[in-house]
Amino acid sequence: MTRNCDVYLEKLCQDIQQRPVGSEGNRQATAFFQEVVEDFDWDVVSTPFQAMDWQDEGAELWIGGKNFQIFSSPYSKGCSLETNLIKAGSVEELEKIDAAGKLLLLHGELTQEQLMPKNFVFYNPEEHQQVIALLEKKEPGAILAATSRNAALAGGVYPFPLIEDGDFQIPSVYLTGEEGKKLLQKVGQVGTLKSDARRIQTEGYNLVARKGQDHNRRIAISAHIDAKINTPGAIDNATGVIVLLLLAEKFKGYQGDMMIELLPFNGEDYYAASGQMIYLEQNQGRFEEILININIDGAGFHEGPSSFSPFNLGERTQQSLDEVLTSMEDIDEGGPWYQGDHSIFLQQGVPAIAVSSKWFLENIDSQEITHTPKDHPAIVNCDKLVDITEALHKFILNAYLS
Ligand SMILES: [Zn+2]
Repeated sequence: MTRNCDVYLEKLCQDIQQRPVGSEGNRQATAFFQEVVEDFDWDVVSTPFQAMDWQDEGAELWIGGKNFQIFSSPYSKGCSLETNLIKAGSVEELEKIDAAGKLLLLHGELTQEQLMPKNFVFYNPEEHQQVIALLEKKEPGAILAATSRNAALAGGVYPFPLIEDGDFQIPSVYLTGEEGKKLLQKVGQVGTLKSDARRIQTEGYNLVARKGQDHNRRIAISAHIDAKINTPGAIDNATGVIVLLLLAEKFKGYQGDMMIELLPFNGEDYYAASGQMIYLEQNQGRFEEILININIDGAGFHEGPSSFSPFNLGERTQQSLDEVLTSMEDIDEGGPWYQGDHSIFLQQGVPAIAVSSKWFLENIDSQEITHTPKDHPAIVNCDKLVDITEALHKFILNAYLS
């Protein structure tokens, strides 16, 4: 299995270089998943959906003869503008200013955390929706967001894009807090902003692989197959997909009634969460049929043990998990965390186990790896993925199939 793990890792992170929803690499990844699991005799349902690919050829800002380092926000429209720079550091300031057509620099409390995409249903604080609505009302020509470090919400990315939303129509760029401070001194002057970004309508696919006939009793095992733009997405989340593929092989000969679903969700790191939305729709009113969700995200980091975090397991199920975990040297029980697709199942009342690496759970506020080029196959240990697969296989057999 370790050998297969290496092959899958190379395929997902090196042969296919990028897997953001809408990209060619994303379609290659879902096609590869389908091919492998069909070889292991799984039935696959593939649902196509409209997606957005995004091309970025850089952005430039000049004010008063000085050049500022800026980046186009992922999925933003491009722009070319020459107009006044104005600023807002709080909701109150934003409410007061006349921003129509101008370059609007956001800073301070407005840029502490990434704004949730406007149509994102799973987690969308009212403060975020309020800022987005206010920006749309003020109609600036473009938004320049000076952001700070926030690993918990933006992965390891600094500066992070304040806005990452293909449904938001105002062009936006982002910059570091330091660059923002310098830019604040130019407020009132005329600046030239050019962002060579482009939205492209394409397709993506959300897959469900199944074995077993009885859909009234289902085990749903998930791992998102998409990745952010500009990262090989090894730990986030090629490794999760690899565990699904290794499980597909483990259960190759499975002939039981209870249905097992392998779910390579296409959209955890995408503003529209398309694959998750499709699955929700396909299972509306049917989540009671799902006995448990096992979601793998962030697994296989070379440092430290793996972690299995249980959520609302019944007594017997928890007991089965305890037994498996005591027998595995390199897997610990982990505490609760919610930034993953298991949350979708929890919100529907389905118990879950979230599989990850202990190191990431402990360093969630400070790590600088996920969503960056550092999330590379070199930080993956395939032995840990094989261990996780063995543990999950054993757990599923003990808790549900014996
Ligand atoms: Zn992830």
